[in-house]
Amino acid sequence: MKKANAVLDNTSHPGRRGPDELVPSRYALKVGEIDVLVISDGVISPPSATMATNADPAVYATWLDDMFLPTEVFDWALNTVVVRSGGRIVLVDAGLGVEYPDFPRAGQLGHRLEAAGIDLSSVTDVVLTHMHMDHVGGLLVDGVRERLRPDLRIHVAAAELKFWESPDFSRTAMPPSIQDVLRRSARQFMNEYRSQLRPFGEEHEVAPGVAVTRTGGHTPGHSVVRLVSGGDRLTFAGDALFPVSFEHPDWHNGFEHDPEEATRVRVRLLRELAATREPLVATHLPFPSVCHVAVAGDAFRWVPAVWDY
Ligand SMILES: [Zn+2]
Repeated sequence: MKKANAVLDNTSHPGRRGPDELVPSRYALKVGEIDVLVISDGVISPPSATMATNADPAVYATWLDDMFLPTEVFDWALNTVVVRSGGRIVLVDAGLGVEYPDFPRAGQLGHRLEAAGIDLSSVTDVVLTHMHMDHVGGLLVDGVRERLRPDLRIHVAAAELKFWESPDFSRTAMPPSIQDVLRRSARQFMNEYRSQLRPFGEEHEVAPGVAVTRTGGHTPGHSVVRLVSGGDRLTFAGDALFPVSFEHPDWHNGFEHDPEEATRVRVRLLRELAATREPLVATHLPFPSVCHVAVAGDAFRWVPAVWDY
């Protein structure tokens, strides 16, 4: 954690980085019998253009202005989820870790899990929506592997593991330096955790009412997590959608390895969530990201949930 501590002075956020920080970093809700805790890993800030690579620049600039957002840098929230069901404790995605110093505000999952009373050794399962560094990096932080239980099961789509053996970046639009880190972190993850991987094909039930389903698109093995219990539902969408996606589902994200397919996946998911009216949680929507999807003309509307405290 040395690197993370070293950048403490650069953050404009109030409070100390640690269990007693003054920033809200967790949000709890129930889905039937299932306990859900959204935990923020922090914020990453890639160049703003990566959020809408095929948008008309003037239209995108207007959208940013309408949303009261700056034009140069788009802050992406980085949410992870802990799900408790049937005696299993499932961590969905693991945040950025500390290997990418350009994003000093992220990589906070370790102490925020601790602050939420969750010991790494109690986690029985990890589900990875995909293997980009902002989703696996937290597992690569020094000392984390040793604190996780030896019988930890890590669920990831077989297609995702296959993809990262020889990843194709030809249709992405991200800085080359980020591509290098993505390749490196995915390889390191596969090497360090190979014996604990539990690859699945299209769908797998991780715990009672907790299923992971491959969507593809963002990456070939990108998956979403569906929770169903006692008539309640919730979907964790991973990187299937972004803050721009409700009004502009056809805008490509620079991190998408197959942007056309990612768009199809996104539209299908948004239509479905609008129809079921279930709550949605997603990695890069502003914390805690709990919201609903409504249809709005040809596109969609993002309806944040009322904070329940
Ligand atoms: Zn991501």
